[in-house]
Amino acid sequence: MSDTSSHPLHLFRINAGSCNGCDVELTVTEAVERFDVATLGCHYADTPEQAQIFLITGPLTTRLRQEVLALYAAAPAPKVTVAVGACGASCGVFRDSYAVSGPLEKEITVDLNIPGCPPRPQALLDGIAAAVRLYRQRRGETLPPLASASDVAVPERLRGAPRFAAAACVGCRVCAHVCAGGAIRFDDKEEGVALTLWENSCTFCGLCAHYCPSGALTLSNDWRRTHPQSQSYQQTVHGEVPQSPCSDCDASFTAAPPELLRRALGGTAAPIEPLRQLCPDCRRRHNLTFATRGVKR
Ligand code: SF4
Ligand code: SF4
Repeated sequence: MSDTSSHPLHLFRINAGSCNGCDVELTVTEAVERFDVATLGCHYADTPEQAQIFLITGPLTTRLRQEVLALYAAAPAPKVTVAVGACGASCGVFRDSYAVSGPLEKEITVDLNIPGCPPRPQALLDGIAAAVRLYRQRRGETLPPLASASDVAVPERLRGAPRFAAAACVGCRVCAHVCAGGAIRFDDKEEGVALTLWENSCTFCGLCAHYCPSGALTLSNDWRRTHPQSQSYQQTVHGEVPQSPCSDCDASFTAAPPELLRRALGGTAAPIEPLRQLCPDCRRRHNLTFATRGVKR
C-alpha cells in the first residue's frame, strides 16, 4: 500500500553529531522492504533543497552547529522537522556537555520527537508517517491511508516506554542514580516524594528497572512514542510514592512495599508486618528494646 497523494515527499537526513546509532537504524528505512519509506510515498533526497521532511539525529554539537544550520536553512518552507532519538529530543546523555550546543529546539523549529536510543525501525516509520501527515495537513492536502510496519510482531523483551507503580516504590532513588540519561527526578513534597520520568531523555536502557529493588519501575514494550515537540516535556511518567502513618508515633513515612519484602525474604513473613508499620526511628527503638530485653546488669 502506498500514499496515493499527487506528489511524493522527500526526506533529508542531517547528522547533528550523533553517535550514528540512529543513523544506522534510519538506513533500515531504505534498505529493508517492510520498513521502506517508499511505502509512505516518500524518498530520500540528495540535497536539502529537494526535501520537505527533515530527520535530524544527534544533540547538535558545537563543532557541527554551523553546518547543520546552513543545511537546514537551505530547505524551502514549508517543512516538517523530526528530532530522531533521545539526543535530538533533549541531548540525551550528552546534556550539559561542553561540546554540545543543543538541544535542537534552541536553534531549529522542531515539530516531532521520536524517542529512543536509537528508536527501533517500526518507531522510525511510525514517526515518519506522523511527519507525512503533518506536512500534508499543513498544505491542506487530502490524507490517504498510510502504510505502516507497526503491525509486525513485537519481540517479547523489547524495551519500550517505562511504567511506574508508585504503590510498589520504596523511594530509595536508585533508579535516578543509575539513569545515565538523567531522565528521572524526585521531588520532595509535604505529602511525600514524587517521581517524574521524561521520555524525551529516556534511552529505554532498562537499568532503572533492573536495579529497582521492588519492581516499581518496569519497561513496557510500547514503542509508539512519537509525539509533537510541543508535548516533549509533558510526555512523562509520574507518580507520588504513598506515605502512611507510623503505627507507634503517627509520623508519615514510606513503608516497605510487600513486593520488596517478598523479594528480600523470599516469601511472605507475617512476623515482619508489625515492623513494616513502624517508621525508621520507632523500628530502631523497637529493635534496641528487643535486643536488650533479658540482658542482666
Ligand atoms: S530506561 Fe530507566 S535508566 Fe534507562 S534511560 Fe530510561 S529512565 Fe533512565
Ligand atoms: S522506582 Fe524502584 S529504584 Fe526508584 S525509588 Fe522506587 S523503589 Fe527505588
